[in-house]
Amino acid sequence: MARLIFLGPPGAGKGTQAAIVAEQLRLAHISTGDILRAAVREGTPLGQEANSYMSRGDLVPDSVVLGLVKEALQNITPDQKGWILDGFPRNESQAKALDDILQGIGQSSDCAINLDVADDILIQRLLNRGRQDDTEEVVRNRLQVYRDQTAPLIDFYQSRSHLVSIDGNAAVETVTHRIQDAVHQRVAA
Ligand code: AMP
Repeated sequence: MARLIFLGPPGAGKGTQAAIVAEQLRLAHISTGDILRAAVREGTPLGQEANSYMSRGDLVPDSVVLGLVKEALQNITPDQKGWILDGFPRNESQAKALDDILQGIGQSSDCAINLDVADDILIQRLLNRGRQDDTEEVVRNRLQVYRDQTAPLIDFYQSRSHLVSIDGNAAVETVTHRIQDAVHQRVAA
């Protein structure tokens, strides 16, 4: 059983690592970015609202994202041994709302894993990825939004002794091993 929050700037490898670790530990991989992109593709009203924010690299309003997260956490199947939140929370009000959601369903997270990656590597990775919101101007805005709104969560979780920082400046497999080691130390068997 593991309940993990993945933090880190855009391009840090959160999505890649969350997918690998979720599969290995049989956890639900809850990526708010993936859920929002699916809604945009399907053209739902929620997707249409989200798209204007995403295409600029701004955060989608909390009211939209919180509903999605709540629904995803309630839909964990019995074969899943917990979850990874990837890309959520993204600001302090989401982090506080997450506490309330978890309290409401009688759960708590084990730790927040922060993937630490140097700025020049982030920009290179993002520009090479070629996603629709990976143009240079939007990438710059996403990094700024990260610094202003999301990075403060490092202190937020650190002050609760909930933070595990992982050096993400390495090959995918190396970073996966570092995360697995941290999870084993943090999570009771
Ligand atoms: P990601 O795939 O995590 O990089 O997210 C892509 C985009 O989706 C972000 O730039 C935001 O516009 C939006 N998004 C994803 N997660 C959140 C969240 N927790 N809160 C607000 N917006 C989000």
